[in-house]
Amino acid sequence: MRRKFIVGNWKMHGLREGGTALASDLAGRMLGAGDVAFDMLLCPPATLIHTVVQAVSDAPVSVGGQDCHGKDSGAHTGDIGAPMLADAGCRYVIVGHSERRQGHGEQSVEVRAKAAAAHRAGLIAIVCVGETEAERDAGRAMDVIARMVDDSMPEGATAANTVVAYEPVWAIGTGRTPTPRDVAAMHSMIRGRLATLVDQPDAVRILYGGSVKPDNAASLLHIDDVDGALVGGASLKADEFWAIAETCR
Ligand code: PGA
Repeated sequence: MRRKFIVGNWKMHGLREGGTALASDLAGRMLGAGDVAFDMLLCPPATLIHTVVQAVSDAPVSVGGQDCHGKDSGAHTGDIGAPMLADAGCRYVIVGHSERRQGHGEQSVEVRAKAAAAHRAGLIAIVCVGETEAERDAGRAMDVIARMVDDSMPEGATAANTVVAYEPVWAIGTGRTPTPRDVAAMHSMIRGRLATLVDQPDAVRILYGGSVKPDNAASLLHIDDVDGALVGGASLKADEFWAIAETCR
């Protein structure tokens, strides 16, 4: 009942030429593949949203932002409002990525406001949560994530407007991943938690993110309660991203 979801988070990478080529390449593969068992989303940097939207316009590929402000508009130099993302052709926006939480001091209360702003703009929010290595080593990973989920999910979240991404901070860009057992335990805990927060917790997609590569994708993506991947580094190469997606076919 939950379709797999493969999301590319390009982060602060990509200029027009390379970004267009990557998006067009993936669009072509999606069109050529016909019926696939997964949905694909590309989250380029804001400067490339328009270009990528055009490049994938004929293909079953969605485009999303990497962040939005918690307010719809205003005096917030450098920020982007969710209505602007929607206007530019986005259907989704990532909120609460650990690089925002850590690099920009974002707290769950802000992440929740951002997710609510996404919903007001008709966007689907991908709400990210993840524990640090110190928290995992201290045996606190489950508690930390439970709390982050509780505090980051906005009122009115549903399976239709919200996706959750579990991304352990220590697994992002490091080549290290939790064991499939740890991922399974975490995702099942998150789903249990969602039962108190959304109407149809079984319909919410919960993605895993953090060093997903072609060679570990199958072992991570076939775990119960793992409904797809949020891919950083490997999403910048069409072959690698496609190989990850194909493990869901
Ligand atoms: P990574 O990044 O795949 O490069 O580890 C994942 C992410 O930060 O979303």
